[in-house]
Amino acid sequence: KIHTRPKSSFGNLKDQDRIFTNLYGKHDWRLPGALKRGDWYKTKEIILKGPDWIIQEVKTSGLRGRGGAGFPSGLKWSFMRKPDDGRPKFLVINADEGEPGTCKDREIMRHDPHKLLEGALIAGSAMGAKSAYIYIRGEFYNEAANMQVAIAEAYQAGLIGRDACGSGLDFDVFVHRGAGAYICGEETALLESLEGKQGKPRLKPPFPADIGLFGCPTTVTNCETVAVSPTICRRGGAWFASFGRPKNSGTKLYNISGNVNNPCTVEEEMSIPLRELVERHAGGVVGGWDNLLGVIPGGSSTPVLPKDICDDVLMDFDALIEAKSGLGTAALIVMNKDVDIIKAIDRLMRFYKHESCGQCTPCREGVNWLYKIVHRLVEGCAKIEEIDMLLELTVQIEGRSICALGDGAAWPVQGLIRHFRDEIEARIHKYHDQHESKDENEDN
Ligand code: SF4
Repeated sequence: KIHTRPKSSFGNLKDQDRIFTNLYGKHDWRLPGALKRGDWYKTKEIILKGPDWIIQEVKTSGLRGRGGAGFPSGLKWSFMRKPDDGRPKFLVINADEGEPGTCKDREIMRHDPHKLLEGALIAGSAMGAKSAYIYIRGEFYNEAANMQVAIAEAYQAGLIGRDACGSGLDFDVFVHRGAGAYICGEETALLESLEGKQGKPRLKPPFPADIGLFGCPTTVTNCETVAVSPTICRRGGAWFASFGRPKNSGTKLYNISGNVNNPCTVEEEMSIPLRELVERHAGGVVGGWDNLLGVIPGGSSTPVLPKDICDDVLMDFDALIEAKSGLGTAALIVMNKDVDIIKAIDRLMRFYKHESCGQCTPCREGVNWLYKIVHRLVEGCAKIEEIDMLLELTVQIEGRSICALGDGAAWPVQGLIRHFRDEIEARIHKYHDQHESKDENEDN
């Protein structure tokens, strides 16, 4: 049973409760515009309330990491609250955003860079960090340039740097641009890359909170997670928790792409029904809702859901796990009946094969096999038994690799087989029918 709610229960977010300005048109992203919108308001007072207060507010808010894993943010930040052993602590903001379909952090850096900087200062102060690194996807050239301008403005206004906001805290922010590898969005690969090495994930433990950047305690956290924290501290954790449902609270940036009339990035309430999100903000499915084939709900790593599940499912962590998919990055890829679903998953497998760092065998070899088999299924050039073999292969990859890329490649194939097995079988039969009749013709 997939968790559903009446349509009107969620998704009533009012403009005054939107944290990000992307819905309001092209506001000035520079410091004067940010100040008018309330950024950097009483930041000093927030910092002076202390790390325990900030972390408690974030815990009260129910905020869960917005990068995809959904780990409770307050708890994660609290791992940095340990006795000083002389090593510096670092906050690393993950703005690598390479997941296909996902571009929410890009919007934050385009339109709200000061919200991210203020969040870095507040989150960093809660963790005892004196510097933050923002790791930005290499392709986001303009966004990195925006961040640099915003950082320069913040230094000049005394908002960061020595005695940031007059709080007595020294806090520096650095931008680091990636070089185009998807795997550098994985937190330990990102740290390796930041240290100047090849972006290859590390074995865990040790976790970054113990041994992270340059061997020091580090929290790697998503751009959106950091950027919502000033508003949570100003308006209160309970305010944020009033949106969505328990354990799935707050507002959320959703990317909606694919066969919709108005692809967009929109901030909405957590737990809004998927259908309502698509119809209200993205102008609906091209050809109407009945023309929907399926939706990948949370970026390419989350399994596709067919229309009958999309009719009712809620957009949050727990409802989508129940539906055997995931919220991931909340990037919906909508596919109507014009889409060849096997070809779409084949394209994703090509991506994962290309992006595997090659360190572990199940991922390096297994994802290559996944690609080769799914690629043959596009034409139907396979045996029926290979469908179960493919499924078994995904099970052998899942959970057997250093990082989650292997899982991320296995899950879309599992979703394809779970919901579109008939389509795969029909294609195999068609292929063999065509080739048998061709052989007969040639014999005659
Ligand atoms: Fe590299 Fe894949 Fe192993 Fe991750 S799962 S470490 S990407 S080989």
